[in-house]
Amino acid sequence: MIAVKQAKNLILKNTKTPAPVKFHLAKCLGLVLAENITAKENIPFSDNSAVDGYAVKFSDTKNASVENPAKLSLLEILPAGKVAQNELQNGKTIKIMTGAPIPKGANSVVMVEQTKKNDNQILVFKEVKEQQNIRKAGEDISIGTQVLSEGKILTSADLGVLASVGKLFPLVFPKPRVAILVTGDEIIAPNEPLTEGKVRNSNEFTLCGQVTEFGGIPFSHGIGKDSKEELKKQVLNALENADILVTSGGVSMGDFDFVQQVFPEIGAEIIFHKVNVKPGKPVLFCTFGKKLIFGLPGNPVSSMVAFLQFVVPAMKKMAGFSDFSLPKTKAIFKGNFSKQDDKTHFLRGILQKEGENFTVSLTGTQSSGVLRSMSLANCLLEVSEEKMEIKDGEEIFVEMF
Ligand code: AMP
Ligand code: MG
Repeated sequence: MIAVKQAKNLILKNTKTPAPVKFHLAKCLGLVLAENITAKENIPFSDNSAVDGYAVKFSDTKNASVENPAKLSLLEILPAGKVAQNELQNGKTIKIMTGAPIPKGANSVVMVEQTKKNDNQILVFKEVKEQQNIRKAGEDISIGTQVLSEGKILTSADLGVLASVGKLFPLVFPKPRVAILVTGDEIIAPNEPLTEGKVRNSNEFTLCGQVTEFGGIPFSHGIGKDSKEELKKQVLNALENADILVTSGGVSMGDFDFVQQVFPEIGAEIIFHKVNVKPGKPVLFCTFGKKLIFGLPGNPVSSMVAFLQFVVPAMKKMAGFSDFSLPKTKAIFKGNFSKQDDKTHFLRGILQKEGENFTVSLTGTQSSGVLRSMSLANCLLEVSEEKMEIKDGEEIFVEMF
């Protein structure tokens, strides 16, 4: 049985990041950028008005006040998107809307609120300084600036920056397509009546949720059968349009656990089966050409924890991320925990802020069948193979999800 760290190394070693593709901006949120982006123009393109007002020569407003307004004659009205037809002379003004380019000859803009129109004469009640209310060309992005670098995880603001510099189809790493196939003859749909021996299918929903949460596209393939021939067909079908196949159930020692037998029979190579971890020990990892297969145990908590520990790093590597782990933080442990084995344990914890510190406590029973413990949790506590207990007040790292 291999250790968690070894398992993660084997997964990353066998995961290839596919070639990046050009995607429409609208589909790029959260994706990793695969090229450097340099601005080929100034943004804004030219000096323009920051307000609705009047473009002036600032010297024409000298000493202007309510009692003694400057009087300027109106040459034209300039909407945003148009260029002024006149060059501004002394004693003249051009009415200008926010965003419209500053007319030739003008060097300041008076806000409309500080003016009054009297026929074709504009009264200006306040002196303006040179360049007042003017947004300079290149103020946002100046020509030649590298605005985004390869590896950037694209945020909403980044999409706006890409749009501003005219990049409608940036080069990005696509989201991994992840097929989900849960297995077990006892598994029934959530809307079926629960009877003795039956278990409602929760894994399909937790796993699809996790795929989406960690930046993949889930494709659910329903409930697989505990029969080798049926499973083989379902597995091959699920693999067809996927980068990763995640199954749940059927990888333990039961008489009807056929999943691990099916993978070699379809030509997949088993990289490891069983990790020294709790929960999630029977986890199975295979490669199938460039595709990956994760056989997760059926217990609802085991499948979720194994997903976080083993599937997430593979998904992140495929999606072009450079950090494959979950975000970590330090917290003070509240409670007591001890274990009797040399497995790495992943405990379900509740991380919260108490005064200046973060504390973490356990969700209660850590049985791998208690899905509610995952629902209550917001972090995992990793207890390494050699660590046998966590004492009350001990400072530990937790992985947030
Ligand atoms: P297995 O790994 O197939 O031995 O399943 C272990 C346990 O997880 C059994 O109690 C199953 O009933 C339960 N289980 C398996 N698949 C699911 C599922 N899709 N949803 C909820 N529980 C499941
Ligand atoms: Mg089963």
